[in-house]
Amino acid sequence: MTELPASVDGCEDCLRDGGVWMHLRICLQCGHVGCCDDSPGQHASRHAHAEQHPLIRSLEPGEDWSYCFIDDLAMIIPAVKGHTRIPPSPMLS
Ligand SMILES: [Zn+2]
Ligand SMILES: [Zn+2]
Repeated sequence: MTELPASVDGCEDCLRDGGVWMHLRICLQCGHVGCCDDSPGQHASRHAHAEQHPLIRSLEPGEDWSYCFIDDLAMIIPAVKGHTRIPPSPMLS
């Protein structure tokens, strides 16, 4: 996927399990929204490994980097467009 959603409600897995997240990442293969490795659930990297979807993009305001878990490499993917509105981190409120 190259078009980011207009808004998301938070980490899908945290919302389902009642967890809290710090920062949000989206899977560029299927659109799964997960949380970063500073979050207790680390759902973005767990999704990447479980589903073998290694490419994520940050959904944090002002951040436009993507990351590949296989290559352990951060990059900018210009084809990925859009801005996603996200709720504030429940860990910071
Ligand atoms: Zn999570
Ligand atoms: Zn995925």
